[in-house]
Amino acid sequence: MGHENGGLFLDLAGLGEDELVLREQAHRIAVEVLRPAAWVLDRMTPAQRIAPGSPFFTTMATLKSLGYHRFFLPAEAGGPEEPLSPLAQSVVLEELGWGSLGLATAFLVDMLPVITMSRFGSPELQAELMVPWVEDETGAFHGCWAITEPDHGSDFIGQRDGDARSYGRAQLVAEPGDGGWVLRGQKSAWVSSGPIATHAAVHAQAGRDGDLSHSLFAVVALDDPGVRRGAPADMLGVRDDPQGELFFDEVFVPERNVLVPPGPFYPVFGDQLLCLTSSVISNVAVGVARAAFEEALHHARQRIQGGGPITRHKNIQLTLYAMFERVETARAYSRAALAHTQANVPGSSPGALGASPRHARAAQVYAKRAAYEVAHDALQVFGAQGLSRDSLIEKLFRDARSLLIEDGTLEVLALDAARDLIQNYEHETYDLEEMMATW
Ligand SMILES: Cc1cc2nc3c(=O)[nH]c(=O)nc-3n(C[C@H](O)[C@H](O)[C@H](O)COP(=O)(O)OP(=O)(O)OC[C@H]3O[C@@H](n4cnc5c(N)ncnc54)[C@H](O)[C@@H]3O)c2cc1C
Repeated sequence: MGHENGGLFLDLAGLGEDELVLREQAHRIAVEVLRPAAWVLDRMTPAQRIAPGSPFFTTMATLKSLGYHRFFLPAEAGGPEEPLSPLAQSVVLEELGWGSLGLATAFLVDMLPVITMSRFGSPELQAELMVPWVEDETGAFHGCWAITEPDHGSDFIGQRDGDARSYGRAQLVAEPGDGGWVLRGQKSAWVSSGPIATHAAVHAQAGRDGDLSHSLFAVVALDDPGVRRGAPADMLGVRDDPQGELFFDEVFVPERNVLVPPGPFYPVFGDQLLCLTSSVISNVAVGVARAAFEEALHHARQRIQGGGPITRHKNIQLTLYAMFERVETARAYSRAALAHTQANVPGSSPGALGASPRHARAAQVYAKRAAYEVAHDALQVFGAQGLSRDSLIEKLFRDARSLLIEDGTLEVLALDAARDLIQNYEHETYDLEEMMATW
């Protein structure tokens, strides 16, 4: 059925011919590459996952050979001549999330250093590192985003107000060196792709005295002398993307690798970069939610129990309906938040005023919660089969549970949005007595 502007299907509304083709291609990659690779990786030991020849590397190389890493870049940084619309970006992100949360995360953290280099990098750094990275189609480069530290996870977002006392001393410190900075310290065991990345986008406290709310942000080559990696973590979910510690022992970072010089992390840089990551992750979470819904629907249609299909039960019908409602609302909000963020983040257009943190965070919280609730309910629809290591829903449930922590816990993201609401939400006030008097 051809449906102009989506026709009967709201999830296709507004998609043009090119976007529909992109969606179909991304879905085929999710089906043929991401899901099978993620299934195999999930069962491997952490060491097997990062060994040469692991499906992790072949999958990343496939995405690069198809040019997916260029989709989210502006044309001047090597992106498509006709930039992908925010709607097209949402569609691709949802399909990647549908295929595998872990591999989608690995794909996104790989792009983080490139995207920030394209916005903030010096011309030397762009020529030396960004251009070959963007041109590469073999997976020779892989990025990660090293933010959290052993004693600093949630508080990285919680320190929006820049209160040094609330944060305390960072565990990665950059001190001025000859022509650059010297890094000493470490990042947490949860850095996605940390065990295999070639480069990291790193936040470090600038100077011995201070805190991470006054930090510098730089790209560090992870084969530089003094960099060491911890063993890959053995996690409950998102096992298809390896996480691990990064240690920095007197690592020299030349000035040209500094993307953002020492200064307050909030409100401009951190806040707006987090708007971008929040609205991207929310679209990936929609893919996880949809995957769980579709698994449950398929199972419910097929499962005969007590002589009839389980779809005859009202509880199953209502559960499927509630899942569908969550997927659809999460998608609508996530798409709107991504479009808003892309249109308003500084640099998007002359005089752009900035994206709305409360909307980006709320979309992320909403979509992550939707993914978890849908996966939870889907497992219930499967009964005991859903608990078996042989069913996809068991993996989706573990991945969806991890989403409530990955990229900021749900509570901390919600508190951050609440702070923005309380400080900045504008509304008219009414005097009830006056209002009634003039009625
Ligand atoms: C799959 C996965 C991938 C990840 N990828 C990366 C990555 O690529 N790079 C990276 O740097 N990090 C990464 N992380 C780390 C992630 O960002 C942190 O785990 C997350 O921010 C929470 O920090 P924490 O684990 O230290 O928990 P904690 O900060 O110790 O929090 C523990 C509990 O206390 C609550 N809490 C703590 N502080 C506050 C507060 N101020 N207000 C209210 N509640 C609070 C939290 O909500 C939580 O319930 C990843 C984590 C996971 C699970």
